[in-house]
Amino acid sequence: MKPAPFEYFAPLELPEALDLLERYGDEAKILAGGQSLMPLINLRLARPRAIIDINRLRNLDTISTATDGGLTIGALARQRTLERSTFIQEQNPMLAAAMPLIGHFQIRNRGTIGGSLVHADPAAELPAVSVLLGGEFVLRSKSGTRPVAAADFFLGYLATACRPGELLTEVRFPKWRPDDAWAVVEIARRKGDFALVGVALRAALDGAGTLQNVRIVMFGVGGKPQSMEQGEALLNGRRIDEALLRELSRVVTEELDPDSDVHASAAYRKEVGGVLVRRALQSAWAKAKETVSH
Ligand SMILES: Cc1cc2nc3c(=O)[nH]c(=O)nc-3n(C[C@H](O)[C@H](O)[C@H](O)COP(=O)(O)OP(=O)(O)OC[C@H]3O[C@@H](n4cnc5c(N)ncnc54)[C@H](O)[C@@H]3O)c2cc1C
Repeated sequence: MKPAPFEYFAPLELPEALDLLERYGDEAKILAGGQSLMPLINLRLARPRAIIDINRLRNLDTISTATDGGLTIGALARQRTLERSTFIQEQNPMLAAAMPLIGHFQIRNRGTIGGSLVHADPAAELPAVSVLLGGEFVLRSKSGTRPVAAADFFLGYLATACRPGELLTEVRFPKWRPDDAWAVVEIARRKGDFALVGVALRAALDGAGTLQNVRIVMFGVGGKPQSMEQGEALLNGRRIDEALLRELSRVVTEELDPDSDVHASAAYRKEVGGVLVRRALQSAWAKAKETVSH
């Protein structure tokens, strides 16, 4: 199919883009990498009156260090750029590691960090990783600038706090803690497919190998990224051993309340989710030990 007719704009400056967004409100769609939007409009699942192509806006894809040592990434930064950037690999290795899990490299060549976050597919990697990392999103409109915590941004299936008239311009992540143990893992039917179930996990490990500040955020298991609070509570203050890993699988399987869809049943997601969290912790631990021994 072909898209329904639309007006096309390619502003060169941010104020022009914000004017257009205000003028068209919820009848406008922003075009970033087009990797989600184009299929939707070609299938006529979305019929925007206006498409506002932001690819010509200057300085919307910059990557820099924030004053607090964190990262500031322009919404238009391509996923492939973030994946390959040695700066990102050093400043936030978890973010870099999540990128290759997104589709195929051809998709990441065009797909942007902002597009993935605003599209908010519940099986997408970046929303979950952003929540886990304590990210913050900067939304701009004609009426001003509004920062929204990643934890408050995702409202449900393909739904976010980004309102008509607003453009996501910047994504911020707090300073990375290099000694943390972390992993991001997923199960997909084929390489490049959306995750059936995925896990992002991070924890501090003290000298005695005790877990602290554990965060577990899962994707593909509900309408938005899901924090596994019972799993986190189980791990905090404990040392990793075989019994704890088994217990973790059980607790997370119980905590998960996913939906069934054409890709997998709820029962499958619960079972696999428990196993995957255990694998994530094992992988995080192995990596952390390797780092200490070097
Ligand atoms: C075959 C295939 C496999 C895929 N596999 C995965 C996968 O495994 N994991 C995954 O996460 N994704 C996957 N995707 C989806 C896709 O990669 C991402 O959703 C995509 O990269 C979104 O970014 P984009 O820049 O292409 O956004 P676009 O498609 O341009 O836009 C997506 C939505 O976000 C809005 N938008 C974009 N930028 C902004 C902004 N700055 N401010 C406000 N609104 C904005 C648009 O209006 C639109 O509603 C896959 C896609 C395909 C085609």
